Amino acid sequence: MASPVRNQNFPKSKESGISNGASEPSFAEIALGLPIDKLFDYRIPPELEKEIAVGKRVWVPFQNKRKVGYVVAIKSVSDVENVKTIEEIIDKEPLIDPEILTLSKKIAEYYFASWGQAIEASIPIALKKGKVKMGHRKTKIEGEPYPSEELKLPHTLTGEQEEALAAILKSLEGNKHTTFLLHGITASGKTEIYLRVIKRALELGRSSIVLVPEISLTPQTVERFKSRFGDNIAVLHSKLSEGMRFHEWERIKSGEVKIVVGARSAIFSPVKNLGTIILDEEHETSYKQEEAPRYHAREVAQMRSEIAECPLILGTATPSMESYYKAEKGEFKLLELTKRIDNMVLPKVTIVDMKKELHETRKIAVFSRLLKNKIEEAAQKNEQVILFLNRRGFSTFVNCKKCGFVAKCSKCDSVMVYHFATQKLTCHWCNSSMLPPKICPSCQGNYISYFGLGTEKVEEELRHMLPYTRIERMDTDSTAKKGSHARILGDFKRGIIKVLIGTQMIAKGLDFPNVTLVGVISADTGLNLPDFRASERTFCLLTQVAGRAGRGELGGEVVIQTYAPEHYAVASSMKHDYQGFYAKEIESRRELGLPPFYHMARITLQGRNNAYALDAAEKLSSAIRESFKDKHIFVLGPVPAIVSKLRGRYRWNIMIKGKDPFRLNECLKKILSNYKIVKGVGAIVDVDPLTM
Ligand code: ADP
Ligand code: ZN
Repeated sequence: MASPVRNQNFPKSKESGISNGASEPSFAEIALGLPIDKLFDYRIPPELEKEIAVGKRVWVPFQNKRKVGYVVAIKSVSDVENVKTIEEIIDKEPLIDPEILTLSKKIAEYYFASWGQAIEASIPIALKKGKVKMGHRKTKIEGEPYPSEELKLPHTLTGEQEEALAAILKSLEGNKHTTFLLHGITASGKTEIYLRVIKRALELGRSSIVLVPEISLTPQTVERFKSRFGDNIAVLHSKLSEGMRFHEWERIKSGEVKIVVGARSAIFSPVKNLGTIILDEEHETSYKQEEAPRYHAREVAQMRSEIAECPLILGTATPSMESYYKAEKGEFKLLELTKRIDNMVLPKVTIVDMKKELHETRKIAVFSRLLKNKIEEAAQKNEQVILFLNRRGFSTFVNCKKCGFVAKCSKCDSVMVYHFATQKLTCHWCNSSMLPPKICPSCQGNYISYFGLGTEKVEEELRHMLPYTRIERMDTDSTAKKGSHARILGDFKRGIIKVLIGTQMIAKGLDFPNVTLVGVISADTGLNLPDFRASERTFCLLTQVAGRAGRGELGGEVVIQTYAPEHYAVASSMKHDYQGFYAKEIESRRELGLPPFYHMARITLQGRNNAYALDAAEKLSSAIRESFKDKHIFVLGPVPAIVSKLRGRYRWNIMIKGKDPFRLNECLKKILSNYKIVKGVGAIVDVDPLTM
């Protein structure tokens, strides 16, 4: 949280200004990448007066250290006593463009981070460390992981595509900001529209930013952009080394490339003359940054496209509740693609009721009889299969059948998961692990057993079932080694791997025409989470996974196993019915007073001493209740966070909600400026949090 720290550069009072006489630009306001919500005045030494400029980095002394700071203003008067002096200017030319300065300021204000933190979120790490220009190195970004899509002749657009494209181009050519929600089922030709918009922007001499959830997971999308635009593309993703990232950034900054494809932080790319922002899979949760500034790339894209007066395109098969609601209200312009290209049919989805299965077979099995048959059939015909389970590891928990003991992480309030590969119990929150107990530590009994299901277990069962078939698993465990992700996908593409088992890592963006069967081992993994977005997530994920089937001439089908076949998230995904799902979900959100009807902010108070943390949380929540009694601001909590203890820290949440985001923001500002820091208790503010 922004907390004022005592510092010799604090303003004494508004009146007592110190000035170097006339209107010489003698002081600079510097933003520092610290969680301190203020700017710091520094004196500009005479020899640097000519060189200083807004947007340049400088070295400044701060609490007996040298720190990199960012010049955000220059002025002739400062009311700070004993103001310190700038030591050195790092950049010859301003590093941060005015557009990015404006943007980062807005983000800092909205998400309660400091301006410096927001600026630092916008640049590569190398630059934060004060490194100077490294000069141009001609390096090529990664080789092709597998045969790239051959350069196809541009298609004739379908009627729906034409219509959508025309609306977007009108906004682009007219320099008018509009947010488009491009709602199109999988393989309806959204990407083709993106490519056309970018092409037009290029013709107009303008740049484009394309955001995708995580590039290293969607190499196929990147390939398509490269095959259309060649070297005019910079690619930014999390697997890039520090040097590579800086190199790509430099190519963008220098204007060498006009198209940027990247994950979340690419929204800050220093492109000039921005013509369009495209945010693909807008419903994805990875667009939210989980450290300060806790921004959502969709919101930032909204701000940036407003500043640049250009169209923003949000593309998805399953719009977030927030976006679809805005489209309904007319805030976003809705563009719909309802047909798959080439009239490819959507795959048939069959739901298997596992309660019935259990009743009829009298045993708990990984595969229902139907799914087992279908897998064997596909294997016989030499067709490919994708099996999906959104839980890694072997079994979900270890528990004593006699006394009920469950193995939990000692540092987190979470259940340990057994991993076959390491033969250990692992905490999925802090990654610590231990050997599974043979004797129950609680009752000393001999009844320890393993329950639940993870991808490892699915893999093992499958190997028994199909001993001669090449099977691979793809999840964070199996892809920890560099390059293994691309290798698995490559082998699957080439047909070497027949069955691919995976977590949500395989749910998105993959386009493999020979996959005729997609099996969802359990639709319930996310449904029972205590989070109001559980249904939305489940519907999205099931729809995404189902979209992996039937992308070629062979057609395809989907089998979903579930203990909750009647749940609307499951039932609507079977019918490919977004509208049906939306109608049910939005009603429930309205009734419960949840987003998109209310905006939320969460304050988490955490500390090693539970009593202190709880006490601070209780005091804060009653203070908030007291101050905003009649302001249509609601306070919930404190309640224990879902993981109520994390890495040894106890965590208490206070949720604040209000209808008007700006008013909510104002209230938070007041709360935080009055908040007295309790020793040993940290506070984190998350505006529009994506998890409870
Ligand atoms: P989405 O992004 O909605 O999943 P894509 O743009 O990837 O859809 O289109 C799906 C497939 O159809 C791709 O292989 C693409 O090259 C092809 N395609 C897109 N538009 C057309 C078109 N108008 N005519 C023929 N093929 C098309
Ligand atoms: Zn843990």
